[in-house]
Amino acid sequence: MGGIYSSERMAGVFSYESSEIDWCEDNYKHSEHVVEYFNTISSFVFFIISPIMLYLLHPYAKERNLAIHIVWIMMIFVGLFSAYFHMTLSFVGQMLDELSILWVLAMGYSIWFPRKLFPSFIKDRSTFSRLVLVIAIITTLSSFVKPTANAYALNCFGLHLLYTLAVEMRCCTDQKVLRLAKLSVALWVLAISCWISDRFGCSFWQRLNFCYLHGIWHILIVIAVAYGSTLIAYLDANYEIPYSLPGLQYWPCDKWAVGLPHIVLKGTTKTQKRC
Ligand SMILES: [Zn+2]
Repeated sequence: MGGIYSSERMAGVFSYESSEIDWCEDNYKHSEHVVEYFNTISSFVFFIISPIMLYLLHPYAKERNLAIHIVWIMMIFVGLFSAYFHMTLSFVGQMLDELSILWVLAMGYSIWFPRKLFPSFIKDRSTFSRLVLVIAIITTLSSFVKPTANAYALNCFGLHLLYTLAVEMRCCTDQKVLRLAKLSVALWVLAISCWISDRFGCSFWQRLNFCYLHGIWHILIVIAVAYGSTLIAYLDANYEIPYSLPGLQYWPCDKWAVGLPHIVLKGTTKTQKRC
């Protein structure tokens, strides 16, 4: 009996609407197989931006460390799990969606957190990465017992990252960098506002017949990550590979007011050897 019960429960976590969360968008409005249509479709923006960012950041990653690519490869998985979650609203979908975000943040953290800000008991980056890995594993395991554990860890990682950036920016005078920092924060605030508004102001948006804010959050947060991670990567390049003379540029055209930011390396390895 116990076996049947547990296998039913196992199947239950995969079933449609087994998650306790239901976003503002009307369920099954456009398809009988897709619970939240626009929220699912908007997750595809991850599949567009991630490969472009992988391509744009390749020269920097090649010079610094190819492991940097993990961040945008994992972002493809975030998009995949997000689409699966909104398509089914299943418990497994929710866990995969939330945990993949935690792992992207953990990866970014262990790759980019400035060495000079490591706690005194940590000597090098590999020790720091192992510590972040242990925290991410503990959070992953505990979120199966208590799903809110992940949200707390996400907020701690996120807020610490924001604080570190604010400290870094205080002594920065480069206008291009400051503009990128302001844009990153503005996009992030806008994205979070959409998320909160969809979660807690749904009845208001339903009256306006506009229940797409969670989908808009998906689009804004990918762009915010592209801006924010490039800013962090640029600061990192100045510390770790200064000989390569890193610069900031926008794709597809640097002169346009909008575009995807990336790092160009004006110096070559030869410059390093000469020095
Ligand atoms: Zn979502």
